[in-house]
Amino acid sequence: MFRSKRRTALLIAGLSAGLTLYHASQAAWAAPTKQSKPPEVKNVILFVGDGMGTAHRNAIRLATKGLSGELEMDSMPYSGLVHTNSADAKSFITDSAAAATAIASGVKTYNGAISVDRQGKPVETILEQAKKAGKATGLVTTAQVTDATPAAFAAHTASRSAQSDIAKQYIEQTKVDVILGGGEDYWYPNGNPGYYPDHPAEDPEEASKGTQGNLVERAKQLGYTYVRTADELKQASGRKLLGLFANEEMFQQRPEGEGDVYNPVVSLPDMTKKALDVLSQNKKGFFLVVEEEAIDEMSHENNGSLMIKAGQQLDEAVAAAKQYAKRHRDTLVLVLADHECGGLTIETPGGTDESGDGKTISGEDGPFPIARSTQTFALDWTTTGHTAADVPLTAMGPGAERFAGVYENTRIHDILEELLFGKSKR
Ligand SMILES: [Zn+2]
Repeated sequence: MFRSKRRTALLIAGLSAGLTLYHASQAAWAAPTKQSKPPEVKNVILFVGDGMGTAHRNAIRLATKGLSGELEMDSMPYSGLVHTNSADAKSFITDSAAAATAIASGVKTYNGAISVDRQGKPVETILEQAKKAGKATGLVTTAQVTDATPAAFAAHTASRSAQSDIAKQYIEQTKVDVILGGGEDYWYPNGNPGYYPDHPAEDPEEASKGTQGNLVERAKQLGYTYVRTADELKQASGRKLLGLFANEEMFQQRPEGEGDVYNPVVSLPDMTKKALDVLSQNKKGFFLVVEEEAIDEMSHENNGSLMIKAGQQLDEAVAAAKQYAKRHRDTLVLVLADHECGGLTIETPGGTDESGDGKTISGEDGPFPIARSTQTFALDWTTTGHTAADVPLTAMGPGAERFAGVYENTRIHDILEELLFGKSKR
């Protein structure tokens, strides 16, 4: 097909004209070296930086790589821009539940819906289809494992708050092979604290509140290896793995200096690597979702420092996935977001705060050092909520070129369905 890097680069440039995330230097990655067909997609690793808009990626890049370096997540041959609006009757600005439903199931729905349509009817997810096809499946997140983004790939509930129902569906119905993250509180009933104590000093409100009995015991009965710490995770073997590493999120989301913590007991890169070790034992391939939740939750708090720290962890997790994908060329890697959060932009520090009335936290944040430079930058937040701004997507591996362009979030599902299963089954 395309024999020279240059011709491929020209083709890609044509496809993604106008998209700022395109990097000519990276285009060669996707170029087949011989006249062979590109491999079909066997494995998918889908990263969600929750709330991660273009400015978030830019801020993470400046703080990590400086003015001339690229993040791992940006060093991919194809990029797209994704419209994120939901089909909610009251607000077209999406939440994570409706956005993840669109990505996982190809259906626009109301905010709060976990892979049910506007009438409340369950809609099949791409992860469920992968499972049916014999692939292994995994959910990894620094949020509660039952939080909206992972939930919409492997459960169906009218409300995202039904987290114990979601947990039960994971292990009994969808039979997700690898489940790693926080949210132990939804797996144990009130009064049974589990491994992480109720009412800890860093957030006294955290306590077990499960509504479906002891789901950790249930998971063990169903063949899951259950782990609670980094050491236990390292030593775990077996092909079904449940790891719960916090009562709620694996961090504490607060404004800067008010008890904010981002120091997960197991890092997102380590969870990702373990998930790849376990899932790759399946000869038919796997479908893995990896989410960094703190990008969104720290943006809700307008906490630039920990938003950046979380983004750096996401980028390390992406690096691990890219290493895997370079050894296994039938692996598609996507890095995307469900929506933007914070109405973020990047400015010169020290200017007047255009937005500031001094009464809200939304305003100028920083200065933050630019890596390998004496310069600094300021972040300017315009809201503590989500916005309707498009979010960037980057892709590498077989079929990655299909994600070039500007499109609705539902199209991510549709392309994945075509790449994994041929023509749409719907
Ligand atoms: Zn949010």
